[in-house]
Amino acid sequence: MYDVVIIGAGVVGGMIARKMAEYKLKICILEKDSDVAMGATKANSAIVHGGFDAKAGSLKALLNKRGSDMMEDICRELGVRYRRNGSLVLGYSDEDKKTLEGIMENGIKNGIEGLEIIGRERIKELEPNISDSVEWALYASTGAIVCPYGLAEAAIGNAMDNGVELKLNHSVRKIKKLENKFEICVDNEKSILAKTVINAAGIYSDEVAGMAGDTSFDVHPRKGEYILLDREAGDVVSHTLFTVPTKMGKGILVSPTVHGNLILGPTAVDGEDKENRKTEREGFDKIIAESARMVKNIPLNLTITSFCGLRSVGSTGDFIINMPMRGFVNVAGIESPGLSASPAIAEYVVELLENNGFKFAKRDDFNPYRESVEKFSEMTEEEKNQLIKKDPSYGKIVCRCENVTEGEILKAIRTNPKATTLDGVKRRTRAQMGRCQGGFCSPYIMELISKELGIPIEKVKKSSNEAYILSGRTKEDVHNA
Ligand SMILES: Cc1cc2nc3c(=O)[nH]c(=O)nc-3n(C[C@H](O)[C@H](O)[C@H](O)COP(=O)(O)OP(=O)(O)OC[C@H]3O[C@@H](n4cnc5c(N)ncnc54)[C@H](O)[C@@H]3O)c2cc1C
Repeated sequence: MYDVVIIGAGVVGGMIARKMAEYKLKICILEKDSDVAMGATKANSAIVHGGFDAKAGSLKALLNKRGSDMMEDICRELGVRYRRNGSLVLGYSDEDKKTLEGIMENGIKNGIEGLEIIGRERIKELEPNISDSVEWALYASTGAIVCPYGLAEAAIGNAMDNGVELKLNHSVRKIKKLENKFEICVDNEKSILAKTVINAAGIYSDEVAGMAGDTSFDVHPRKGEYILLDREAGDVVSHTLFTVPTKMGKGILVSPTVHGNLILGPTAVDGEDKENRKTEREGFDKIIAESARMVKNIPLNLTITSFCGLRSVGSTGDFIINMPMRGFVNVAGIESPGLSASPAIAEYVVELLENNGFKFAKRDDFNPYRESVEKFSEMTEEEKNQLIKKDPSYGKIVCRCENVTEGEILKAIRTNPKATTLDGVKRRTRAQMGRCQGGFCSPYIMELISKELGIPIEKVKKSSNEAYILSGRTKEDVHNA
């Protein structure tokens, strides 16, 4: 019997697990996929929003501000990449200027500092490649960028190092309310019992709530497609550039990433299918046209990949964080700014439970720190030599595009939450993330995974259990005949 079961290993479930690990509790995270951060957390804009555009007085506004204030310290504790690069919402006319003033006013109501309307000359100083038609901008000095899946992995890894269990490939199918506890039926195991259940199941959080008998809200997917450019294009802009937001979201942005790439997107397309992550020509055309309005000469020839994320749009218009029955907490409809708000959401959940009579005792041995993974390519020559002397596997470059060593890959396979797939290694180390997208290094990484996990190489998957890479050995049938 667990004290707490968290359903969903995204950034929200991860932050809640880490927060709750501060207490004397037996905690388990159940995740349906084969790795952590496989939902919205792995495919978003990666912005720590300043907090100026969430509607004043909403839960989104409150938790965005608090989360953005907390983020830098949390990233330092967890060894996650974070950069306060500031953001600009761009306007093209005096009409847009009025809209920007309205957003600034909303931001001031939200308690956001460092907001300013600036004109073309100042914009040009900040962003020399800005398009000629941009006249005005709302500058927010508190805007930042972060590695979203890195944050979720680190939060979950730190929670695990503090005793939290993670069960992957555990899809929750049914939840039964018993007296003072819940029985959770999952794939792959007999039922799990928990005193408290936290529903952080992202796009499926309405269905998980429904399993417990709460049908008070729906969540629908809103697709967001992206184009990612090589690191050679990473300094085209230094701030995050937005267009004026619409009722569908924050609009298309052009931003550097913490790894030095340039990201363009996302689109905003409502749908019904919670698994449709297809990118489409129409979406790309929109991204290209909108970003060209913002920035001159974006080198689209440096495009290395495209991807799509699904926003969890809740039917209430705000984050849905409530306790519809004693011990069952919904953390649902966590669309943008959910990444920015995630540490504050975790605090809010604990407060919600405590305000409803749950008493948690703090432990005195909680360790908030997580050793950051050595980034070989960023070390000085002396540091590199020392590391290679200590562990020769750091002397072998496996991914040539991103300069990732065998040592870093082995560490990713051995550190909580352990990478077991090619994409798991990719997100943790950046091997296969460069311009060849794994064309050269993936066979060797498969060998490393196979050896470390003690599984045949044919069993090494790209991502989920269905995503096999090798179907068998060449001429196997002939050999066996
Ligand atoms: C296009 C886009 C752009 C965005 N940009 C930003 C941004 O720039 N800044 C920002 O702050 N926010 C942004 N967001 C929002 C942010 O990404 C999300 O708020 C955040 O990632 C939500 O995290 P989560 O943990 O709630 O959901 P998820 O990451 O989706 O995690 C939910 C997890 O639950 C698991 N799960 C589902 N059902 C079950 C089940 N039955 N049993 C077990 N496990 C289950 C899923 O597999 C998944 O791993 C963006 C989102 C999108 C899609």
